[in-house]
Amino acid sequence: MFKSPRIAVVGSANTDLTTFSDVFPRPGETIFGKSFDLGFGGKGANQAVAARLCGAEVAMIAKVGNDLFGEATVKNFASFGIDSTHVRIVDGVSSGVAPIFVEPNGQNRIIVVKGANDILMPADVDAAADTLRNSDTIILQFEIPLETVYYTVHFARQHNIRCIVNPAPAAPVRLAELAAADYFVPNETEAEAISGLPVHSIDDAKKCAAALLQKGFRKVILTLGARGSLLATAQATEVIAPFQVTPKDTTGAGDAFIGSFSAFLAEGLPEQEALSRANLYAAVSTLRVGTQKSFPKRSEFEDEWNRRTAKL
Ligand code: ADP
Repeated sequence: MFKSPRIAVVGSANTDLTTFSDVFPRPGETIFGKSFDLGFGGKGANQAVAARLCGAEVAMIAKVGNDLFGEATVKNFASFGIDSTHVRIVDGVSSGVAPIFVEPNGQNRIIVVKGANDILMPADVDAAADTLRNSDTIILQFEIPLETVYYTVHFARQHNIRCIVNPAPAAPVRLAELAAADYFVPNETEAEAISGLPVHSIDDAKKCAAALLQKGFRKVILTLGARGSLLATAQATEVIAPFQVTPKDTTGAGDAFIGSFSAFLAEGLPEQEALSRANLYAAVSTLRVGTQKSFPKRSEFEDEWNRRTAKL
């Protein structure tokens, strides 16, 4: 009855280079760190992995540098079975990287170098037009040039493809250029930055979502951390209840939510159920450390869904 959904992500791919150290070096000083971890990230790549693990056919449209990280990123996509035909390896620029330094108390310092992500242009969207036209859903974030995001929203509208925009990280943006998207999905911080309204409570979140609808969006979903999520349309506003967990690491929860929601929705599930499932998928991802590494497989998710919903 359900079809295998096809999802395309036009977005970023990064390599996270995490160094754990007791102290930070002073200027001019060299010290030994305790340990090191390499992980694949970038909001686009993370959402692609979540959608794939949920069972969707996923195509990634991205750019990486002609370096070890670019090569490893493409291999990582292949390991998940993500179509990377349109992940272009380009000369003269590095791959996107995020050197992260973590102190024992968990305090971190991060320098993101956008590298090749910053030259993913509208022409790259045109080059992937066939793949995009064959997709049920296109997902976008703000880690690539905004002109490419605007262009892809228009492309999706023109071809009647569902389009989900995750405005992360928040940036000054021409909202009118995004209003043709089907879903606008910020977290609390992004919603505050974009609307100028505080989001400290469910009531605030409802007001903020209403303000975003006024800007022309048809459907706004706010992710609210431990409070779950909220769906607002011109007709109604509804809080989608969270699933209780004791999180170990909430990094990437938003990406888990968006990737899984897009897959569940494209599979044909009703919107409310897709949102509730995305709440659980993201909640489960907080139980393990890491981003892509923390995302559950579909079978593991289904066991948890059945266990949690049997009690309802
Ligand atoms: P981001 O990772 O972008 O900051 P959120 O913190 O809003 O995004 O998390 C995304 C989704 O993950 C939430 O809408 C919720 O479904 C789930 N989630 C995150 N933190 C928790 C938590 N502590 N308990 C239960 N669910 C959570």
